[in-house]
Amino acid sequence: MSTIKLKVDGWEKSITFSASHILPGHEKCGRIHGHNYAIHVRISGEPSESGVVFDFLPIKEKLREIADRLDHRVLIASGMEGLKKEENEIMIQIENKRYVFPEEDALILDIDQVTAEQLAMYLLEEVVEEVDFPEKVNSVEIGVDESRGQGAWARKEI
Ligand SMILES: [Zn+2]
Repeated sequence: MSTIKLKVDGWEKSITFSASHILPGHEKCGRIHGHNYAIHVRISGEPSESGVVFDFLPIKEKLREIADRLDHRVLIASGMEGLKKEENEIMIQIENKRYVFPEEDALILDIDQVTAEQLAMYLLEEVVEEVDFPEKVNSVEIGVDESRGQGAWARKEI
């Protein structure tokens, strides 16, 4: 049986979000700035008797739900040094700089740094856990672009 790969391109299918982040320690990216992100997926597997590997709809729905959740937020890594939560505010102290965000404008993600690499790994875990893939699907890849043509992919055998 041959393996088939399905692809969904986030730019083409409007699975995109705009968000800002800070990468402490980087000269330029250490200042708060934003990106227009896109999320892509590739699914490998054997087709069923009807010739289908997986229905595009549930995976697109899941990716859109994630994109909506991250859209127009300040993305903050839970592992970031100097991160503090108080009442409805999130404070970040990076050396001599102090950022304060209203909680509703920010989203704390369970990662160490908000890079495309870590976002891809983080989203892959969620997709693999929450999307009901048929048995004949053997791997899932999630790509996160920070801009067109530049991004990171994470892959998992399932
Ligand atoms: Zn950046």
